[in-house]
Amino acid sequence: MKKKGPNFIEQIIEGDIAKGFDEKNLRFRFPPEPNGYLHIGHLKAICLNFNLGKKYNSPVNLRFDDTNPEKEAKEYVDAIKYDINWLGFDWDKECYASDYFDQLYEWAIILIEKNKAYIDSQTSDQIASQKGTPTQPGQNSPFRDRPKEESLSIFEGMYKGVYDQGEHVLRAKIDMASPNMLMRDPVIYRVMKVSHHRTGENWNIYPMYDWTHGESDYIEQVSHSLCTLEFEPHRELYDWFLDAISPLKGVRPKQREFSRLNLSYTITSKRKLAQLVDKKMVSGWDDPRMPTISGLRKRGYTPQSLKNFAVTVGVSKRENVIDASLLEFCVRAHLNEIAPRAMAVINPLKIKIANYIKKEGEVINFEINPQNKEEGKREIKFTKELFIEKEDFQENPEDGFFRLSPGEEVRLKNAYIIKAVDVIKDEKGSITEVLCEYDPKSKSGSNTPESNRKVKGTIHWVSAKEAVRAKINIYDRLFKVEEPGKNTTIENDINENSLVTKEAFVEPYLLNANDGQQYQFQRLGYFVKTDNQKTLEFNKTVGLRDGWKK
Ligand code: ATP
Ligand code: MG
Repeated sequence: MKKKGPNFIEQIIEGDIAKGFDEKNLRFRFPPEPNGYLHIGHLKAICLNFNLGKKYNSPVNLRFDDTNPEKEAKEYVDAIKYDINWLGFDWDKECYASDYFDQLYEWAIILIEKNKAYIDSQTSDQIASQKGTPTQPGQNSPFRDRPKEESLSIFEGMYKGVYDQGEHVLRAKIDMASPNMLMRDPVIYRVMKVSHHRTGENWNIYPMYDWTHGESDYIEQVSHSLCTLEFEPHRELYDWFLDAISPLKGVRPKQREFSRLNLSYTITSKRKLAQLVDKKMVSGWDDPRMPTISGLRKRGYTPQSLKNFAVTVGVSKRENVIDASLLEFCVRAHLNEIAPRAMAVINPLKIKIANYIKKEGEVINFEINPQNKEEGKREIKFTKELFIEKEDFQENPEDGFFRLSPGEEVRLKNAYIIKAVDVIKDEKGSITEVLCEYDPKSKSGSNTPESNRKVKGTIHWVSAKEAVRAKINIYDRLFKVEEPGKNTTIENDINENSLVTKEAFVEPYLLNANDGQQYQFQRLGYFVKTDNQKTLEFNKTVGLRDGWKK
């Protein structure tokens, strides 16, 4: 891969170091909310933060931003940790915003004491109606100047569970006329009598994202808090909150923003992915068609291919849409290097080699991976009766058909040259078997004039006697349009043919495949062995070529 110069975040960091920031104090974090599984968009943020950690030899925290107990769950925490580890990254500290609830509460009291926050006792509708618009200032709440003693006592009541949801909120006292709507006295605490997956019933109030995030960064001494561009307008608030709890000790974190990853034919929003799961349009978060890390893993993607993808996409401040083909390109390139080759026939047609007389067949040498000669060869059984793909035979070949047809020669991969001599049909006229003849002198690699002659093409095969059955799941893109949900609901944009299941014949060698092992099935593409314990089963990762090119 070509080496890229420092990205703009690295330039910011290097600028800070040049201005005297001590490199030893660099610290980053990846801050997922545990309300769903990680997706390909998160991959970008994960790689950005952990690669910075590697580059500057600095710690990266995993911080769960768990301030919305209604939607969060331990299941998601566990899945997120698993996925990050699987990608090959190690975090320094495992942190939870909920671990800071006490500290945040104490700071909120200080805010009220400093006259920087007040309790508003209006309804959320009333508060919304006073917000103004980007071009018109908002109105002050009638509670804005309520004595701080009163605010303190109500806040304590909120904390103790005296009030119901919606009765009071705590708001920062900033500026109802600010051109930045987020600065118009944002709510920082609300009453919420909901059990939390870590703090249980301890809390009747929960802090809002903006109040929590920057202060958590400060508590953890994160130096550069990197988030996606839509948080740019939040930066002013992020800084205001840090000032509000000043004087600060140690590092003052700073927020910087990069562009989201958007991928064509793909959804990268947990909320929308959750809809697909809830409505059972997919088998779960880890359905191999899902753009989640766990889905991509089941699909056969390797950690390396995903990391290569993230590096290729790069980090910038410009919003754009990455072509889904790039992701497929990255996995194809990596699997080409590492995947052992094997043969499988998905739409079997039997052929019988009439002049083949070795009763037990013979052993053929098969190169495990031509991209990595060191892996050597293994043996594969050649027999009189074989399966080839139905599509590789045409009784009356159309123009430009370079495979088997009567009188024409093809090579059976790694084995002999054969030609078709006759077809056998059932009473309905469908071909049930093709009779062939082989040239005993044409064995692959024998370097005889016979073996070197030019034939129509090379086709793959499996021994009909030896082959075992396997279930093959052939996946296609989950959505049939580039921007799912743009003109209609995402449900309407689902590709109904995104999963086709086939019964294939595969080499018996594959009976020993480990779960999660990828293979290149000759001429068919890349496949991964699933963890199905009942049947031998493979998921198609990607074809050998980009089938989507226009
Ligand atoms: P979603 O909208 O899918 O729920 P989110 O931003 O709410 O995503 P978080 O769990 O809060 O999800 O995100 C954790 C981190 O991942 C954040 O720093 C966020 O900016 C980043 N992130 C999320 N989606 C993307 C994306 N598409 N591209 C780059 N970074 C992303
Ligand atoms: Mg979020």
